[in-house]
Amino acid sequence: MAEYKRPTSKAEFKKNFKQKKPLMNDTEAYFESSRCLFCYDAPCIKACPTHIDIPLFIKQINTDNITGASKTIFDSNWLGNACGVVCPTDVLCEGACVFNHQDVSPIQIGRLQNYATNKTIDSNKTIFNLEEVNGKKIAIIGAGPAGMACACEARTLGYQVDIYEAKDKPSGLTVHGIAPYKITNEEVLKEIEYLKNHLGFQIKYNSAILSKEKLQKLEKNYDAIFLGVGLGNTANLKLAGEDMEGVIGAVEFIEELRLKQHLLKVPNKVVVIGGGNTAMDAASEAARMGASKTVLAYRNSKEKMKAYGFEYNLAISAGVDSLFHVTPLEIIGKGKVEGVKFAKTEWVEGKLKTNMNNVFIVKCDLVIMATGQAKQGTLYNLIDNLEVDSQTKIIINEATFQTSNSKYFAGGDAINGGAEVVNAAYDGKMAAQGMHQWLNQ
Ligand code: SF4
Repeated sequence: MAEYKRPTSKAEFKKNFKQKKPLMNDTEAYFESSRCLFCYDAPCIKACPTHIDIPLFIKQINTDNITGASKTIFDSNWLGNACGVVCPTDVLCEGACVFNHQDVSPIQIGRLQNYATNKTIDSNKTIFNLEEVNGKKIAIIGAGPAGMACACEARTLGYQVDIYEAKDKPSGLTVHGIAPYKITNEEVLKEIEYLKNHLGFQIKYNSAILSKEKLQKLEKNYDAIFLGVGLGNTANLKLAGEDMEGVIGAVEFIEELRLKQHLLKVPNKVVVIGGGNTAMDAASEAARMGASKTVLAYRNSKEKMKAYGFEYNLAISAGVDSLFHVTPLEIIGKGKVEGVKFAKTEWVEGKLKTNMNNVFIVKCDLVIMATGQAKQGTLYNLIDNLEVDSQTKIIINEATFQTSNSKYFAGGDAINGGAEVVNAAYDGKMAAQGMHQWLNQ
């Protein structure tokens, strides 16, 4: 089990957050691509949410056609470079690779994908074909993966595209909410810059669309609007003491860590509440920032956690301890966090019940709440006739990604409640095609 020294410099931070899937060199890429069997019914393609022709791009890498490989990748997935490293490939393409049936390591598809696209981005080669400008305009709210993918696809179809982004950087959670050992800020921003320069869409930063007036202005000035607004801040659990100093949402913690890096001070004892992938990321990050004790607390069993097994294992290997079947009752302290009071939970007649006879305190200086993100319901209420479901997810026509207000299309976390970057990239691309169909009928 790793024990991390508190990073005090950029170099030490980089060491603690060593890339999980480092960039391959030419020899590694040649060797790895040579192992592929180029299966005729490639299960890896079916397992990829964007259906990249994986054997084709691997063959192209193997024959040193890197431009062709990148084109194959970007043709299906506009965030092909980022997805190569942030995708949970163990449960997607690599998890489906036929080698798994033979007890042989699957082809490292993600790293090969990253190898090819990274080379093309670095060479700044133009590989995209844009249709004639058609005089129509598309507004995109949110420069996250869904919005970026929608912008790229819409540009190739001849639309003028403006993205309105509330923050001062693009790429939503890819920059702000993904653990730095998966992808660096520089790598995310490099891909976005490349796409922006070669496809020609505009991003208007610090431009939150939060009022009816602003929406009406967009409706007047654009032919169609894409909602790629993702999710909001960490949802409140309404626990006593939750507003104390030393309590932070997981997404906010990860964002701060990515911005401040080694300058962020993480105290010695940390409790992370939650059982999803974001909880695993936050716990692993706290440990890598040198916390001497990081405890992951989840209300049910290990098997019931939403997090992927490999994400949990990664947190454990970073030195994180786990507590299962516990539910937080309150955050204790005097203005500043001193611990979390938990009760044990148990299954009684098919229901998970809190056992108030088994209550205890875990002392800590920081509580990270990884208990899900709030939905953007306030914005949705401002849009006429926009239908959302009981969980405040926007309802779309699954074939076209059009919402109940025909001018609006939507994709990403706003429609699925929180999934992977690759799912958002697929939605954004398909929504642009849905808009194209609607605007040309
Ligand atoms: Fe290659 Fe594995 Fe895909 Fe077959 S399943 S084409 S071996 S990556």
